[in-house]
Amino acid sequence: MSYDLEWVELPEAVAEARNQWESCIDRGLRCDHVPRCSESYFSLAGPFQFHLNVAGMAVCRDGLRRSGMTYQAEHQLFPAWPFKDIEDWQSADRARRDAFDVAERADSAQTVPGKVGIPEVKLLSNGPWLVGAEEIAQALDLYEEASAAVRSELETDGLWRDWLGWLRETAVHGGFTVS
Ligand SMILES: [Zn+2]
Repeated sequence: MSYDLEWVELPEAVAEARNQWESCIDRGLRCDHVPRCSESYFSLAGPFQFHLNVAGMAVCRDGLRRSGMTYQAEHQLFPAWPFKDIEDWQSADRARRDAFDVAERADSAQTVPGKVGIPEVKLLSNGPWLVGAEEIAQALDLYEEASAAVRSELETDGLWRDWLGWLRETAVHGGFTVS
């Protein structure tokens, strides 16, 4: 298992390539565009993504927990998939698919009212999850309040420094998705 993270507010050209790739997949047909939709999207999206393997994500979760940037929360269940099967999804009209996407995205963005920082559950599975800009900004504020000893120990690790850079960057681009 690995974790693929991506800016929520992608630059327009990247967002367009992503939409094109998704609608090509949704039709369930082989992509015969030139260049292929997946290639166009992945080549453009690279600078706006962050990839972690299981061990790397464990390092990040540990640092977040030690510096008080995350909190424990129950995983609220996602809406049931309202389609009979994959053919039903592919042949469903756009409005029906879009309604499900909206419900799924709202659930993936779930937070616990009154809690500050990032719910750790969003960094424990491929979700899909959405870690919002506000959660990230709160987590970064909490990091500033963490003990200097904890921070300087964490910052000896290049992965942690990259992770902090990712948080600072996505905090001003709508947050990030986890899949
Ligand atoms: Zn295509």
